[in-house]
Amino acid sequence: MNQFLTRRTFILIPIMSIFKIIFKPMEVFASSVSSKDRWNLTKDEWKLRLSPESYYILREEGTERAFSSQLNNEKRKGVFYCAGCDLPLFLSEKKFDSGTGWPSFWDSIEGSIETKIDFKLIVPRTEYHCSRCGGHQGHVFNDGPPPTGKRYCNNGLALRFVPD
Ligand SMILES: [Zn+2]
Repeated sequence: MNQFLTRRTFILIPIMSIFKIIFKPMEVFASSVSSKDRWNLTKDEWKLRLSPESYYILREEGTERAFSSQLNNEKRKGVFYCAGCDLPLFLSEKKFDSGTGWPSFWDSIEGSIETKIDFKLIVPRTEYHCSRCGGHQGHVFNDGPPPTGKRYCNNGLALRFVPD
């Protein structure tokens, strides 16, 4: 019996490694987070996980005061992660000073965000959120710099920056 198990484990390990090699690149290059990877936390679970300020931004589509976030002036190289679920959303290379008082980017990491139209200010705006946890990040406008012409206007409280 023991011998049988050992032999089976011996066969299983290489098979698992092959599976990992096959499926790992698919995860990395997937254009959007698959439905099985999406987070589905309750309000109470989010309240335990986030500060009240971040909860207001991420889960209630709030907006922080302009020039209130230290990330507005962040100029180091690194990655900006979703403050809700740690999905990488933006790279420092694509950050620019928009003068608006909110961290601004001209492109996001592919597949990391999703958009929807919101009518909160009567004029329709394109809201965007993390594709994994659905956390509200900001709004995207068409007055950004080249090459995309986009301006992702992000709440600093919705991001976590990790320098390289
Ligand atoms: Zn997230």
